[in-house]
Amino acid sequence: MEKMICHFWWGSSTDSRKVHWIKWQKICKPKRNGGMGFRELRAFNEALLEIQGWRIINHPSSLVAQVLKAKYFPKEQFLQAKPKQQMSYTWRSILKASWIIKKGCYWTIGSGEDVDIWQDNWIHQKGYQAIINWEESTVTTATSSSAMPTNIWQMLWKLNVPPKHSHFIWRLLNEAILVKGNLFKKGIRCDPLCPRCYNQMETSHHVFLDCVWAKQVWFASPLTINLNECQFANLNDWVLHMFNQIDHASKELIAATPYGIWYAMNLLVFQEKNLPPNDVSHIAFAQLQEFQRHNVKTQNIVKRNLSTGSSSNNTCWSPPPRGILKINVGAHLSSDGHWFSGLVLRRWDGSAIAAATRLRTGSEAIVQGEAYGINDALDLVEKLGISKVIIESDSQIVVNSVKEKRSIRRSWGKIIQRWIVFLRNNPHSSISWVKWVGNQAAHVLAKWAENEPNKDWMHTVPLFGRENHSSTSATVIGRELKPLDDRTD
Ligand SMILES: [Zn+2]
Repeated sequence: MEKMICHFWWGSSTDSRKVHWIKWQKICKPKRNGGMGFRELRAFNEALLEIQGWRIINHPSSLVAQVLKAKYFPKEQFLQAKPKQQMSYTWRSILKASWIIKKGCYWTIGSGEDVDIWQDNWIHQKGYQAIINWEESTVTTATSSSAMPTNIWQMLWKLNVPPKHSHFIWRLLNEAILVKGNLFKKGIRCDPLCPRCYNQMETSHHVFLDCVWAKQVWFASPLTINLNECQFANLNDWVLHMFNQIDHASKELIAATPYGIWYAMNLLVFQEKNLPPNDVSHIAFAQLQEFQRHNVKTQNIVKRNLSTGSSSNNTCWSPPPRGILKINVGAHLSSDGHWFSGLVLRRWDGSAIAAATRLRTGSEAIVQGEAYGINDALDLVEKLGISKVIIESDSQIVVNSVKEKRSIRRSWGKIIQRWIVFLRNNPHSSISWVKWVGNQAAHVLAKWAENEPNKDWMHTVPLFGRENHSSTSATVIGRELKPLDDRTD
């Protein structure tokens, strides 16, 4: 079973076997000690068996304890019981795990504490961990990360970042990234040079800190880190140094960047796509922002709405004037690089006329994703033959580009142009910027689009599933959309 978990974790399948970079024992260490906190099943099983032994000692009058005692240790105590020729499988297993109680007993007396541990349920809570710790103290595992102080792990797991970012940092600090330098060390024949600069060996230090391209990414990040002045020859030392120097929010930015660098490196190697350093930095930042917005803000907003018992529309979303419709647009970037749009078209009284989700592939830049959203909105507006509409987006760049009639020499420039023309031909229509909180319904829908892409809801409110986060989505949508009727404006 552990083997299966291990294969799954490292991404192996029946067709391909991936390198398992880190020992299973190490992965099973608690997260705060540098592991991933996986259960070592053998130890877990032993801990469960040992609880049975503990119960026999503690509840000698129970039927099980009496039967076992009569059969296997009539004259001794449980801890003195010896294996016998014909034992049941259950008893053999319980007896086998009794070493833990003996050790625990010795350990507690040895530390000078009260022998009254039998009154204590330390075994229930700590048996498993104790086994892992004892085994660890007998086996010395010299890995590079064992030198890392434990506070780095505590800092890492406390960050409010997408799990893929923190897991990536964990792998990086454990030298479990498939850089060619590591493969070379494992004796696998390959060209070990960096595929970007062909100047140096592709080590994790080079890829993430030392390569000119990586330095540009860090410099383009919101922290504007200049690695030309970096004194560290080792990636782990640098991360440790940074984590100890900077505030919480900056640590989150630092944690986002290596994932972006690695993602871009894979695009280069496997798809020959060369992302500009600026874009990599933007994507990493956008992913972080999106994660934080959805994980903190949505929860807070829903909580706030529930606690105040507000039954009115979201106070931040403002309805359009009578006779004019409003379409809100939200964009969402999925973890596998797809853009989703959520569109909600409403009347002056807040009731919804239509809602839709759309899926786009092939773009990474955040502005492009937001622009796709307003393009989808225009498609919907034209399809429904609407001429008086306010389009609302929370992307300032996109909104201002339309408002100021900028000519953008990027692929999304065409979308801006399309809106400029529409607004020119429809003088009762306009575009406006709204804060993210005022655009929740569209955002929730954009996220929901991962489940139901390219779907239209006409004269009906989207009904979402019963999962955890989607039920909060339903709450938000439900509060913003009033029931529909057949009126038309
Ligand atoms: Zn390089």
